Amino acid sequence: MDLSRQELVIGKDAQKKLENAKIAIVGIGALGSLTAELLVRSGVKHLILIDRDFIEGSNLQRQHMFLASDIGKPKVEVAKKFLNGINKKAKVKCYFDNLDHKNIDIIDSDLVLDCTDNMQTRFLVNDYCKKNKIKWIFSSAIKGQGYVYNVSPKGPCFNCIFESLQSPGTCESFGVLNTVTSMISSIQVNEAIKIIINKNPEKDLIYLDVDKNDILKIKVNNKNSCSVCSGEYKRLNGGGDLHAVNLCMGSSYLFDKPKKVKKRNFIGAKKFGKVFKYKEMTVFKDKILIKAKSEREAKNLYSKYIGN
Ligand SMILES: [Zn+2]
Repeated sequence: MDLSRQELVIGKDAQKKLENAKIAIVGIGALGSLTAELLVRSGVKHLILIDRDFIEGSNLQRQHMFLASDIGKPKVEVAKKFLNGINKKAKVKCYFDNLDHKNIDIIDSDLVLDCTDNMQTRFLVNDYCKKNKIKWIFSSAIKGQGYVYNVSPKGPCFNCIFESLQSPGTCESFGVLNTVTSMISSIQVNEAIKIIINKNPEKDLIYLDVDKNDILKIKVNNKNSCSVCSGEYKRLNGGGDLHAVNLCMGSSYLFDKPKKVKKRNFIGAKKFGKVFKYKEMTVFKDKILIKAKSEREAKNLYSKYIGN
């Protein structure tokens, strides 16, 4: 890859640092797909991608990387191909899975980028990164607004700022503009580069509003009563996990998978390596993701196909 135009701006040494950095991206939706693309185009060669979803028609409005012909394919699979099309030397490690306390070690890297749309995963990433002294960047976009915040091991953590906030909502329930996700992604990658090359990363919480054309910097502080900053990492032990975990404001529910499932209940299922998809269910190694309008509906589907 010819990176001369960027090297003129950041310098040769900084460029080398980017090429050697290992970056994990959690969530390959609107934010994650563009973030991954911008990083590979910037010369980043070691990426870890984690996502549990298939490409749907409603994704194409904002997820640049995906085409109509990709609908139904796992996002990480298409993303890897796309990124290697930009730079075939980029080492892209993919996990088609849900990130949880059992597999959280897969994000071990120099920098973790949160591109999810759920608070539960962000709190989990916060616990892991705080414990292991890894820097990470929170990003979110909803309607016409978005946030980016660099979480450093010593500064205010995600829990310090957002502990009392359950969820700001999801794109599925409130909608989002593709201009916002693109801008938030660009800000996040810009901060990621600053962190990797060690050049004044932002300390404040960044807030963007495209209706008013505002970009605000909000001062944040360590919270004295923050349990994570006091060394209590309860989410790493699965603390707070329910039998049916509501992941996306009532649209996705996660269940533990029993050791054996009745294969005859899944005739015609589509296989993707060790993962298979059947109707509204994605069956992973140790968990099952069910898309449903309510917990009751999800539990009914679980009982019908898996048993009680
Ligand atoms: Zn904290």
